[in-house]
Amino acid sequence: MLVYQAFRFELCPNNLARSALSSHAGAALFAYNWGLAAVSDQIMAYESCRVLALRQGAGAVEAKNWARAVVGPLRCTLPALRREWDRAKHEVAPWWASNSKEAYSSGLDALARALKGFFASRSGERKARPVGFPHFKKKGSRRRFKVTTGSFGVVDGRHVRLPRIGVLRTNEPTAKLVRRLGDGTARVLSATVSGHAGRWYVSFCCEVQRPEPSLPAGPAVGVDLGAKRLAVLSDGEVVANPTYLSRYARRMARLQRQCSRRRGPANGTVPSGRWRRSKAKLARAHVKVANARSDGLHKLTTRLAKAHHTVVVEDLAVAGMTKSAKGSGNWRGKAGLNRAVLDASPAQLRRQLSYKCTWYGSKLVVADRWYPSSKTCSGCGLVKTKLALSERTFCCEHCGLVVDRDANAAANLAGLVKATTGTASGAGTSRGTASANAQGEEKFMPPGRCSSLNCEDSAGQPGQTATASAQAGVA
Ligand SMILES: [Zn+2]
Repeated sequence: MLVYQAFRFELCPNNLARSALSSHAGAALFAYNWGLAAVSDQIMAYESCRVLALRQGAGAVEAKNWARAVVGPLRCTLPALRREWDRAKHEVAPWWASNSKEAYSSGLDALARALKGFFASRSGERKARPVGFPHFKKKGSRRRFKVTTGSFGVVDGRHVRLPRIGVLRTNEPTAKLVRRLGDGTARVLSATVSGHAGRWYVSFCCEVQRPEPSLPAGPAVGVDLGAKRLAVLSDGEVVANPTYLSRYARRMARLQRQCSRRRGPANGTVPSGRWRRSKAKLARAHVKVANARSDGLHKLTTRLAKAHHTVVVEDLAVAGMTKSAKGSGNWRGKAGLNRAVLDASPAQLRRQLSYKCTWYGSKLVVADRWYPSSKTCSGCGLVKTKLALSERTFCCEHCGLVVDRDANAAANLAGLVKATTGTASGAGTSRGTASANAQGEEKFMPPGRCSSLNCEDSAGQPGQTATASAQAGVA
C-alpha cells in the first residue's frame, strides 16, 4: 500500500544555523509579499484600464478585452511568478544570494496556491470552504519554508541535511525514517522547515510503502465524542478528556497579565526585551498544551484503528458548536463549553482516524451530523423529540432502559454499522439511495432512518483496492 506520510523531527541548531533558518523563512515571506504586491498592482492596472474604456463609451466585453490586451495575462501561477521574481530579484532583493532559491520559490508557491484558491472560490469551482483574496504576511507569522529540490534528506540517525544550510543535528533520533530509506520502502519528496515558539522542526514528506493490512479482529466500536469526556466507546470504555488547556490556564493567565504590564508592540512601538521574554514563555506554555493534546489523541486513535474492524464516529459540526458562544449573552457557560470542545479537538481525532484506519485495514464510518445518536434509545430504537444537554442519563419511557447518555449514543453509533451493512448486502440499491457528495465520499441513506453514512475508508487513494475488497468480503 502506497501512502504519503510525514516524518517530523525537532532540529537542534546552533546560533549560526538558527539565523540561517530564520533568514530562509524570512526570504520565503519576503517573496510571498513581493509577489502579492505585484499581482495586486496588476489587478489594479487592469481595473483602471477597464474603467477608462467604459468611460470612453466601450461595451463591457470590449472594455475587458482592451484592458487585458494592455495589462497582459495575470501572472499568478508559480512558473509565471518565478520568472517575474528572477527578473526583479537583483533590484528588490540584492541580498537574494544569501539564501537558497528554494526559500523564495516556496513563498511564491504558497502565494500561487492562495491565489488559485481565491479564483476557484470566486468562480464556484472550489469545493471546500470559500477563501478570500490573500493577505500580506506579517513578520510575526509562523515561519516556514519548503524544499523540493537540491541536496536534502536524512544523513544518519541523528542528522539531516538542508540545501545551503548544511547538516543539522536533530533533537530526536531519525532512525525510523533511516530504516525505511535503507530498505527502500520510503522516498523523500520534500522537506518543510518550520519555526514556532523558539524551536525549529523539519518535516519530510515521504512516499511510503506500507505492508498490506490485515483486518483487525476486534468488533465494531461506536465512539461518542464529547466535551466533558473526550470519548465514550460502545464497549463501555470511557476516555477522559485530559483538559490540557485548563491545567495550564492559571499559568497562561499569569503570563498574559505579565505581558500586558510590559511594553508590547502596540501602536507601532518597539516591544521591550522584557515583553519579548514573557511572550516567549507564554508561547511555550501554549506549545506544551498542544503537544500533550496531540500525544493523547494519537495514542487513542492508533489504539482504536488497530483494535477494531470498524470505527463509527459522529460528524460533529465543530464550527457550529463553538460559534454559538460568540456574541451570545451567556458567555461564561458557553465559552467554557467552547473551550472544552476545542480542547478535546474532535475534528483532529476524526482526521487521524481516517488515515490510520486505512493504514491498519479497519474501516471508518462517519454518521450523518443529523443522526440523533443521543436521542435514540439503544434498547428499542425509540427516538425522543427532546433531550436537554443537562440530562446526563438516558431514561427510555418505552422499554425502561436507564443508561449513561454518552454510552447510549456510542451504542447507537455501533448499532448503525450493523444496520447498514445488513441493508447494503441484503436489499441492494432499491431500498436505499446512494449518492456521491462533493468530496467524492460515498453517502449512504438507509430507508426509514434519518441518517446517512459517509464511508471514508479508501475513497480515491492510491493502492487501496485490496483493502476495499477485503472489507467488502467481511460486509
Ligand atoms: Zn427504549
